[in-house]
Amino acid sequence: MNPARWLERAALLWPDRPALFRGAEPVLDYAGFNVRAGSLAAGLAAAGIAPGDRAALFLANRTDYLVAMQAVWRIGAVAVPVNAKLHEKEAAYILGHSGAALCFTDADHAGDLAALAPETRIVDMDGPDFAALISDAPAPPLHPTAQNDLVWLFYTSGTTGRPKGVMLTPANIQAMIMSYFADVDAAVAGDAKVYAAPMSHGAGLYQFIYLICGARHVAPASGGFDSDEILDLAGQLNRLCFFAAPTMVRRLVAAAKARSHRGEGIRTIVYGGGPMYLADIRDAMDQFGPRFAQIYGQGETPMTITALTRAAHVEAMEAGWDDAMHARRLASVGVAQAGSEFAVLGPDEKPLPPGEIGEIAVRGPSVMKGYWNDPAATASAIRDGWLHTGDMGAMDEAGFLTLHDRSKDVIISGGTNIYPREVEEALLTHPVVAQVSVIGRPDPEWGEIVVACVVLEPGTTADVKTLDAHCLTQIARFKRPKDYVWLEDLPKNAYGKVLKTELRAQHGLAGGVAAFDLGHR
Ligand code: AMP
Repeated sequence: MNPARWLERAALLWPDRPALFRGAEPVLDYAGFNVRAGSLAAGLAAAGIAPGDRAALFLANRTDYLVAMQAVWRIGAVAVPVNAKLHEKEAAYILGHSGAALCFTDADHAGDLAALAPETRIVDMDGPDFAALISDAPAPPLHPTAQNDLVWLFYTSGTTGRPKGVMLTPANIQAMIMSYFADVDAAVAGDAKVYAAPMSHGAGLYQFIYLICGARHVAPASGGFDSDEILDLAGQLNRLCFFAAPTMVRRLVAAAKARSHRGEGIRTIVYGGGPMYLADIRDAMDQFGPRFAQIYGQGETPMTITALTRAAHVEAMEAGWDDAMHARRLASVGVAQAGSEFAVLGPDEKPLPPGEIGEIAVRGPSVMKGYWNDPAATASAIRDGWLHTGDMGAMDEAGFLTLHDRSKDVIISGGTNIYPREVEEALLTHPVVAQVSVIGRPDPEWGEIVVACVVLEPGTTADVKTLDAHCLTQIARFKRPKDYVWLEDLPKNAYGKVLKTELRAQHGLAGGVAAFDLGHR
């Protein structure tokens, strides 16, 4: 089915409902949203964009981003959303790799992109080119897109190597939607879905959920994530729902503390995309209460592997933070979403029993069709019908999955696997530690040693002995960092994910800034 059908349906059912907002300001109702998308679809068709052609989007969140995606789908073309924070050269790589016929962008990037991607027609959404594409001709009929057709080419965030184009179909998107309603949140008409995170990624994928129930779609006026703006919108619009990466949740909580905001006007924050540490989610719930749900997914099975429900968060809160079972569950990524099935596989590719750590593999209707123009990468990711995620984890008896680390991030010291996440969790429970990332450094004696890269809370100091003593109260001796590196910030990619590869390149080979031999070999 064509994903633009959900917009058409909403426009027929609820033409007068406010649909698109720029900040707190209503821009279009559902009828207007559908008409604008239809007019752009007519313009795109007249400009020669044909079914199956790729149309990229390289710009910050805005209401016309959603309009453009709907127009692209209406005519059976493929949306290629590109993270707005990428460098123009990186964006040009994606345009070339996807063979994009057209790219919507803004005045800031149009000139550079036109020079870097001469094969692609660049449309500046702030300029006359875009206005000219909004045609007076009647909207073309919905293209008869099939369940297994390509509709969204999702470029991976590329924490290592070049990004790959994940081919997503209507069937993948439907699996995500069904699972969301079943496991994550019962979205309803009165909700205001704020695009706090990039529309090119998970936040954009969630547009369908809020189209289906005819809710409000809000593009922040800043075009991105600004904690104070989100808190203001909560007061102005009420019933805010949004997806946020854990780093955003942290920043939001810090901003809320500064203005004594307790989350009024926020209905649901769905977090995921990277590890949420136990100390951080407790802090967030202390500030905002039970407004959280977590998802674990990856582009290759969008937003759909597991979910930790709002109810699980509430249970952990009500049990008191010291209850061990609930703490473990709160630190997990929850249980399999209704639309997918996962297994924890051992090195022999056989499922492991509960408690044992292996690679997480997924199968079901949410799993991608494959990587665009990359059969070798597809064959290596999808084997025997299972998508191999590259994430390591263990499931408990009740089905809760705890992620450990990407397989390549596991540290092997003295022949023992050490999962950086555990060490990071331990260090984050110390009040001076604002951010931490733990990596391995090659060592002639141990194979690898544990190195903690730490960002301190502003205005605090710490010495290695204090943090080491703290680790001793939390984790086994052999897992303690043998070296600490003090940093102003952690290197992150455009989605806020910590770049361990870069950290390792910078600090995993040479000695740390404060090299310190703890003498516990
Ligand atoms: P991407 O395809 O860019 O969305 O990245 C997906 C990767 O992010 C996954 O393979 C995990 O390594 C990580 N990830 C996603 N969700 C979570 C989560 N809830 N907790 C920890 N890591 C996550």
